[in-house]
Amino acid sequence: MIYFDNNATTRMAPEVRAAVLPFLDAYYANPSSPYAFARKTSVAIADAREAVASLVGVRAPDVVFTSGGSESINTAFHAARTLRPKRRQFVVSTVEHTATLACARQLDQQGFHVVRIPVDAAGRPDMDAYANSLTDDTALVSIMAANNETGVLFPVEEMAALAAERDIYFHCDATQAVGKMPFRADQSGMTFVSLSGHKLHAPKGIGALITAPSVTLPPLVAGGEQEQGRRAGTENVIGIVGFGAAAGLATEGPALLERRIRPLRDEMERRVCDGVDRVRVAGAAAPRLPNTSLLLFEDIPSEALLARLDMEGICCSSGSACTAGATEPSHVLAAMHLPPKYGLGAVRISFSRYTEPNEVNEFINRIGPLVRSLRTS
Ligand SMILES: *Cc1c(COP(=O)(O)O)cnc(C)c1O
Repeated sequence: MIYFDNNATTRMAPEVRAAVLPFLDAYYANPSSPYAFARKTSVAIADAREAVASLVGVRAPDVVFTSGGSESINTAFHAARTLRPKRRQFVVSTVEHTATLACARQLDQQGFHVVRIPVDAAGRPDMDAYANSLTDDTALVSIMAANNETGVLFPVEEMAALAAERDIYFHCDATQAVGKMPFRADQSGMTFVSLSGHKLHAPKGIGALITAPSVTLPPLVAGGEQEQGRRAGTENVIGIVGFGAAAGLATEGPALLERRIRPLRDEMERRVCDGVDRVRVAGAAAPRLPNTSLLLFEDIPSEALLARLDMEGICCSSGSACTAGATEPSHVLAAMHLPPKYGLGAVRISFSRYTEPNEVNEFINRIGPLVRSLRTS
């Protein structure tokens, strides 16, 4: 099996598995319990919080553990509505993750005004439209650092600074960026930053919302006093410990991917484009993550190609796992105004630190014949 779907999820790192094992087994105490046995779990959570904080350059108390990226995003929207109740306007881009777009749709239905910033053909945001969208009525801006389908990077540092000038909360969905490129959550203007463990070799079902020290986060999940009253529920000790271990490994991620994975990705794109007719790479003109490639094959339905690749043991997807099975171009490709004949033949290849050159060669050797046989059938 060759796994090229690391933007959907990643394998747990062996180091993460080793760190988690004692908590599956010997150390099962509730971290809030008063006896010495529970210290082991509460100390492990504190250590993991330090590791996640250090990965993104913030202090440990700024890290609130959640069930993942989706919950973190929902919490940021909930916080803006609660803390800025008089403001009626929200700003997102047209290519955000479905969790953000679903929050935006809820706001539409509740009568709020949502501005959706368009992107150009390379997937870059319209910065004039963005600057013009910010008003004294804006409660929250929510923008991703790196797109999950194309890998295209957004200038979130600049965008957060513009929001800060007007005292507007800025949420950055950094789920795909952290561990793959240098990213700091302590930049001026970043009020909230969402992270997800399973995108960086931690277990599934754990994430974090980094919250600026100036903000007291109102809980989306109300209940006990866990996470300093900012997110109730007995802690996911296994997830948190795994996330901490993965955060330690992820500090080397950007350099490692830059050195080993970007050249593999670039060579793959070059050889596929040389060897196959009528194929292009989405977002190729924009700065991108080092691990992601969205190949667009003209006149081929991506389901057919993905099914053939699957039969050969190669796992990839047409884009976002959350919208797989759709027969329309994804919302990201639609927003980039690509001709539908390209958008329907999208195959996303996303590598990880575990990707080997021989796996990439295998893919390059197989894709040409597969595409040709599908086009003639
Ligand atoms: C995966 C992903 C999410 C959602 O994270 P989960 O932990 O799966 O809920 C949000 N945003 C982006 C950009 C993602 O890639």
